[in-house]
Amino acid sequence: MEGEDSDQYTENCQQAFNHDSMPVRLADAKEAIARVENSALGICIGYGPKSCGVKIPEDRLLACPTAKRCAGCQQKHEKKFGRKYY
Ligand SMILES: [Zn+2]
Repeated sequence: MEGEDSDQYTENCQQAFNHDSMPVRLADAKEAIARVENSALGICIGYGPKSCGVKIPEDRLLACPTAKRCAGCQQKHEKKFGRKYY
């Protein structure tokens, strides 16, 4: 019966893997959709806890389609958090 046990084990591992990777892919998709919605609206998400509500200039969006902030807020954000945190 050892063979049966190891087959069962492999199957359980695959199920666990498929189940665990699902929320990650869903989160990625949601994040991507949110980003598209933000850039489509083109409204600055602001700096810190408050949104400045400024419309991001079209040329900035064309240069950086994922831009979430106006130039002013982005500068302040980068000064505090560094470039890698958008
Ligand atoms: Zn702003």
